Amino acid sequence: MSNVASKIGYSFKSLGPGFHHHRFTSGDVGFDAWIWRGQPGPVLVLNGGTHGDEYEGPTLLRQWIDNWRPGDLRGTVVMIPVLNEGAFFAGARCHPFDSANLARAFPGSATGTETARLAHLFESAVLAQATHYVDLHSGGNAYELHPWVGYMIAAGKIDREQRAMSACFDRFWCWAAPFLPGRTLSATHKRRIPSIYVECRGAGGVRPEDLSALDHGLHNLLRHLGCVAGEIGPLAKQRFRSSRDAGEAHLQIHHPAPHDGLFACNINLGESVRADQPIGLVWPLSEGDPSVIRAERAGTVVACRRQRSVRRGDALFTLAPL
Ligand SMILES: [Zn+2]
Repeated sequence: MSNVASKIGYSFKSLGPGFHHHRFTSGDVGFDAWIWRGQPGPVLVLNGGTHGDEYEGPTLLRQWIDNWRPGDLRGTVVMIPVLNEGAFFAGARCHPFDSANLARAFPGSATGTETARLAHLFESAVLAQATHYVDLHSGGNAYELHPWVGYMIAAGKIDREQRAMSACFDRFWCWAAPFLPGRTLSATHKRRIPSIYVECRGAGGVRPEDLSALDHGLHNLLRHLGCVAGEIGPLAKQRFRSSRDAGEAHLQIHHPAPHDGLFACNINLGESVRADQPIGLVWPLSEGDPSVIRAERAGTVVACRRQRSVRRGDALFTLAPL
């Protein structure tokens, strides 16, 4: 079978009820998927490892693949623990061959570099079949986050559904922001597929409370979608921020390091700061005074760099006006 045929030939709807495994490939890129197929209903796609150094999503999905055997499933649940294997085995955010960020590569291209081809494969072979989508991220090795769930603001019914999906993850705060190009969610936004992403803490590891919060949210989501029977328990009220500024939730652009050096963080994650408050320092490795990093706005610290070596332009903090 040709690569193209194998890519478009695997239809979830053609599978019988039960538990299936499939490896999607196109040339030298590919990923493994586990498919839980029940009665006709929604097709929920879940993936971790869009970035290679984020481990909470992959860990939780592997646990579900080992342990979750729903007796009476309605719909189809597709789990892809590690989408970006090249980045994963490099222990890095981006793919080592082309240094490209998969979360900026959509819709990708069948003839581009590794990352572009992976984006194209994932969108055309998997996302194109989804009715609902969740992308599991985290702060990775270099950042620690005040965990949240988020989505790209859409029109009418889709926006309400995304808000309801987010509310299922009630141990996270919620951040809605306008469309940005290149993401997995950009692809599903254009296809009008209700979609959310989750950002766990990161800082190089996997915290049990993050896994537990994710697990709780996924169980709620499956009930919300009607994939499994049962009522969702009372959901905790979520702190919610809806932004009109697409840049607000774009973590890589805030508080850039003014030069290479050694970074010191002087505030705590989750702390409230006022505009212009000194929140960190960057010392040059050569002689000279440190640069003081000041808060670009008032808000809550929701992302902080944990890797202390910084290059000019590396983002150091993100503040959300919660
Ligand atoms: Zn990520």
